[in-house]
Amino acid sequence: MSNIKLKRGRKPGSGVMRFKPVVSTMADFTYDKSLFTPMPTGKRVDSLFSSEGGLMKGTNYAFVGDPGVGKTTVLSDIEHILKERGVDPNIIVFGSAMLEEALSIGIKDRDNLRKLPVEKQKELQVKTAQKISRNRKGIVFVDTHLFINTNEGYWPGLPQEVLKVLSPTNLVLIQAKPSEIMNRRNEDESRKRDKITKGSILTEQDI
Ligand code: AMP
Ligand code: MG
Repeated sequence: MSNIKLKRGRKPGSGVMRFKPVVSTMADFTYDKSLFTPMPTGKRVDSLFSSEGGLMKGTNYAFVGDPGVGKTTVLSDIEHILKERGVDPNIIVFGSAMLEEALSIGIKDRDNLRKLPVEKQKELQVKTAQKISRNRKGIVFVDTHLFINTNEGYWPGLPQEVLKVLSPTNLVLIQAKPSEIMNRRNEDESRKRDKITKGSILTEQDI
């Protein structure tokens, strides 16, 4: 028989620390007040930036809308306006970043991305979001889509896994009249867009 005695429980005197509540008020904290002060540009885009009417520091926007709605154009206007005010935004086109990821599997055209099997798109989508979040700095605008029209149906552009990584502070949805979208898509020779009708655009807008 062993003569080692095992004692269970706490040593005498090692009582549980009593919880002492501490009351703090906002005056006890120091924080950068400019984080909560909007920077108005004086242009119509101010209402897109925040409900306070201007760009907020530390914001990270996801700009979404139908293909051909004019997101890229709106974003290049915003870039120009902000640069005039001394702010250099970081504008990232999700589709371009995703195409870079897909080059290794032989995809050379951005309009072929959504024709890949959805499983592959999911993988590329998450990798792209991770790459974007690693490289971003300052005020970020991501040009992307809420839905991707794949061969297997509509797939979300910002599923939970992607949202978690990108964690946008603001979501801006750009809309336009179906006739404007149709003209833009039909005039864009650089893209292999699907044939569209006003009806198909209305369906996409409904989604
Ligand atoms: P775009 O130049 O904005 O029309 O994007 C080109 C292509 O990139 C789209 O047709 C999609 O296949 C892909 N893409 C863009 N954003 C996303 C996203 N958030 N998730 C998955 N695919 C995307
Ligand atoms: Mg675009």
